[in-house]
Amino acid sequence: MSSEEVFPVENGKVNPSEERPRGILFIISSPSGGGKGTLIRRALKTVPGLGYSVSWTTRQPRPREVEGVNYHFTSAEEFGRMRAEGEFLEWAVVHGNLYGTARRAVEREIAAGRDIVLEIDVQGAAAVRQTLQNAVSIFILPPSFETLRERLLDRRTEMLDTVALRLRNARYEMECSRDFDYLVLNDKVERAAAQLSAIVYAERARRERQEGLMRRVLATFPLT
Ligand code: 5GP
Repeated sequence: MSSEEVFPVENGKVNPSEERPRGILFIISSPSGGGKGTLIRRALKTVPGLGYSVSWTTRQPRPREVEGVNYHFTSAEEFGRMRAEGEFLEWAVVHGNLYGTARRAVEREIAAGRDIVLEIDVQGAAAVRQTLQNAVSIFILPPSFETLRERLLDRRTEMLDTVALRLRNARYEMECSRDFDYLVLNDKVERAAAQLSAIVYAERARRERQEGLMRRVLATFPLT
């Protein structure tokens, strides 16, 4: 029996929360300092049924970053082993460190019908789009280069040469935004966060994702 065949119809009514067999994968990218972290945290708080995939990285933790919450921090050796064993859905070298998305965790969540956010760079986004054509990609646009520079310098968690490297890579990352489904301008956090949540809700409502629901509702109608 497929998962689409097990949706309950109680008292002639369909429970819509039972109607989406597979979760949606949301890919969110931006240049470093684009503010995607803040927007994603807001969306996770306000949108029910949205989860986050914690990536693996060989980068050193920043102050206040927590293992298993922000990242799974790991060694280059362990990362290499995971990569060799096919444990990553995608992986990339970003600003000189290795980052990867654990395949099993994402597949488990999606199969359970939960929507998942991947906060990954533009190379990872391209790789996931290749393997999972249904993934929805969103690019967070900083209002200007100057804003990006100020945000990165304000963080004070990075060495100046790291900031310079991230700013050098930002132009190329911005150009990759043309391959994304959505662009969200992060000028005002409130507005941008609302737009991000709206995209999640709109994607959930797409007809092709609701065919199971439609069939079930239709089945409650008498044949004429
Ligand atoms: P940061 O070091 O600032 O946390 O992240 C640097 C860049 O790596 C960001 O663009 C972030 O989105 C990206 N990144 C984080 N996790 C992953 C991942 O699992 N895969 C890829 N490809 N990029 C990632």
